[in-house]
Parts: sequence; C-alpha cells; structure tokens
Amino acid sequence: MLNKKIEEALNAQINAEMWSAYLYLSMAAHCHAAGYNGMANWFEVQFNEEQDHARIFYNYIVQRGGKVTLKAIDAVPTSWDSILAVFENTLQHEQKVTALINDLMALAMDEKDFATQSMLKWFIDEQVEEEDNAQTIIDNIRMIGDNGYGLFMLDKELGARTYTQASPLSSSED
Ligand code: MG
Repeated sequence: MLNKKIEEALNAQINAEMWSAYLYLSMAAHCHAAGYNGMANWFEVQFNEEQDHARIFYNYIVQRGGKVTLKAIDAVPTSWDSILAVFENTLQHEQKVTALINDLMALAMDEKDFATQSMLKWFIDEQVEEEDNAQTIIDNIRMIGDNGYGLFMLDKELGARTYTQASPLSSSED
C-alpha cells in the first residue's frame, strides 16, 4: 500500500507529465506552422514519450493499490519567438522536470519507500537523456546560426526520429 504523501506526489507527477505532453504537442504545432516539419516530428515523438511517462506513474499507483486522481491540465504556451527559443524552452522545462523527479526520490527516501525509489531510478536516468538531447539540438542550432541549408539538414535529421515505447511499459507483464 502506498502512503498518502507518496500517493499525492505521484499523482502530481502524472499531471506534470501530461502537461509536458501538452507542451510538446503545442511545440510540434508551432514547428509545423513555421515550416519545420522534421522538428515537428521530433516534438510529436516527445509528446508520445511524455504520455508514456504519465502512464508509468499511473500503472505504478494502480499496482501499489493506490488511488489515481487526475487533475486539470493547465494551458501551455502556443508560440515562440524562434526555433532556438522552442528548444531553449524544452531544455529549461526538462531541467524543471528533473528537479521534480529528484524531489520525488528525496521523498521516497525520507519515507523509506524502497519500491518507489526503485521505480524512480528509470526516471533519474531518463532525465539525464532528456536534458542532453535538448542541449545537443540547441548547440546545433547555435552552430548553424541563420544558415538555411544547415537548418534544412537539421530539420531533416530530426524528422527521422521514431517513437519507441518506454521500456518500463514494454517490459510490463500485465
Ligand atoms: Mg517526462
């Protein structure tokens, strides 16, 4: 059985992951409108991944006999000043999510909830990757500057990203 403090924090994290999904879908739409269809694809994959994250927390609460409580998803930004700004916002957002995951881990440690700590380990590693991915694209865009061919090539590269279901979901036995 989950303790109430942990249950509440995990439910809040479902909401944060759904907000992330919503944010990335909004970024995808913005990229489409700006003519960067490859970048839009990258954000659509990101949208799928965030829904996976929410689902992992959802499954975990259910599995531990807790109660899932879904709250309203706040509105997200709908426009950005530049393509660089979209990815800078992505990195800044992922840094916030990392802090949320770290807070969850600290709570699970305080509460001596070892199963929750074990579940969170995947997210700790995932956040390292999320921040690295966003930083790499920011570095690329800065290097390219306003070179049209460079942006064309980057857009093509990001258009090749494909979605793979998060491993805690694909390896689940139920
Ligand atoms: Mg996430």
